[in-house]
Amino acid sequence: MQEYKLFINGEWVESSTGETFDDYNPTTLELIGKIQRASQDDVQRAADSAEDAFERWSSTPPPYRGKILFQAARMLEERKEELARLMTIEMGKVLDETRGDVQEAIDMTYYAAGEGRRLLGETTPSELPNKFCLTVRRPIGVVGLITPWNFPLAIPSWKIMPALICGNTAVFKPASDTPILAIELVKILTEAGLPKGVLNLVTGDGSTVGGAIIRNRKIRSISFTGSLETGKLVMGEASRDMKRVSLELGGKNPIIVMDDADLNLAVDGILWGAFGTAGQRCTAASRVIAHEKILPLLQEKLIERTKQLKIGNGLDEGTDIGPVINNSQLQKIAKYVEIGKDEGAKLVQGGSIIKPLPGYFFEPTIFTDAASDMKIAQDEIFGPVVSLISAGNLDEAIQIANSVVYGLSSSIYTDSINDAFRAIEKIEAGITYINSSTIGAEIHLPFGGVKSSGNGAREAGTTAIEEFTELKTVYFDYSGKLQKAQIDLAY
Ligand code: NAP
Repeated sequence: MQEYKLFINGEWVESSTGETFDDYNPTTLELIGKIQRASQDDVQRAADSAEDAFERWSSTPPPYRGKILFQAARMLEERKEELARLMTIEMGKVLDETRGDVQEAIDMTYYAAGEGRRLLGETTPSELPNKFCLTVRRPIGVVGLITPWNFPLAIPSWKIMPALICGNTAVFKPASDTPILAIELVKILTEAGLPKGVLNLVTGDGSTVGGAIIRNRKIRSISFTGSLETGKLVMGEASRDMKRVSLELGGKNPIIVMDDADLNLAVDGILWGAFGTAGQRCTAASRVIAHEKILPLLQEKLIERTKQLKIGNGLDEGTDIGPVINNSQLQKIAKYVEIGKDEGAKLVQGGSIIKPLPGYFFEPTIFTDAASDMKIAQDEIFGPVVSLISAGNLDEAIQIANSVVYGLSSSIYTDSINDAFRAIEKIEAGITYINSSTIGAEIHLPFGGVKSSGNGAREAGTTAIEEFTELKTVYFDYSGKLQKAQIDLAY
């Protein structure tokens, strides 16, 4: 059994607690690794090491930092298939999707590497003569990066790569369900030439290790992706120290299907959005809000296609849905199905735990006759459960779409340009797709949600650079005399 270590100050070390925890394959329930249970002292050592490395790394020209990331991207590319298989073993999603996860990490690493030759500021005229104004981007310092398990390489790379190219050093805590992929990513960056101390990895449970990161005075900024519940704790703790905080949280994402939509296309999108990654995506489509005229036909087509989905080991080509991540998640999904039945929604497909293999499998599940205020239509279930809700027209559909605390992703299927633009304008979400599912973010565009899906931060795209830099405004006066802004008017 392989035992994995912490990575602090360029060395693979054991935790000061001497304790480990087990990492299981959710498909077979086989033990796949022993992982270090870090302590607050280990987090402190990681933060000290990141602080020591900061001066040198932040002074390294960004194109050189980019060179290391380009090398890491090439290594990720070479190892794509092996990493995808390892990811399916560690967290269960099917191979096509884990290949996509690795590809997202590759894309982000190349993208961030290229930013080493941009990191753009602005220049602008002064209101005074012989004076010049500009902004430059400075790194923040030591940043704390905390990630969930559903995108074990993609989400860490969305944080690590922009943080590093901007000149920050980092303490990284991956989810306890997917530490091995995180460790592989750190190994790749190290082999690509990342200097010691620049990136430190600590594994262990959320409240101890994550909490210690958030409270550490040397860590100036926290980038967190996870649940709303944890996000609130993170924000509360981090604000005591006036840390910068970027939160990417949950969703209850709607697909609106209008009466002029291509229903087969909509069914493709619903299946992918609701049941891809066994519904365990922040952007999963867990609500379908369908125009009452087409709802019966849509429902019929959806049930028929859902019955054809193959559940099993994600390593087997042809499997559509793998297991969910762990037993507590499995029980939570089962509990929500009971709640849905008690609330009066009609269970028309699935609804049970199944055992095609020893792991944590749940049938793809469809509720109809759901009302927008039911818990199953309000809470993020994070499993393969979708609720169908009827709407009489677009305004009502949008009102239902907006009736939740979340606002991450959304989608509308329609042939009407007018309806599409009204949806873009009125749906409260950080992302709106037209005629495609709620899933499919590309790394060069901003990603994030409104309302309780985040705190206004956006990852990826040029906004990733904003997340990991401070702007400094520079006034360069070459007049040789004291000039007072707003007082010595030059016009
Ligand atoms: P989670 O339980 O909130 O955990 C996320 C991370 O926070 C893990 O590394 C976890 O460590 C750590 N953590 C737990 N308690 C903590 C605490 N008190 N202080 C600091 N860190 C703590 O979320 P999850 O179950 O891993 O992920 C699913 C959630 O993430 C869903 O709500 C999903 O919508 C959301 N998500 C959002 C996005 C987005 O971009 N908006 C993307 C993917 C997922 P342990 O693993 O050790 O508990």
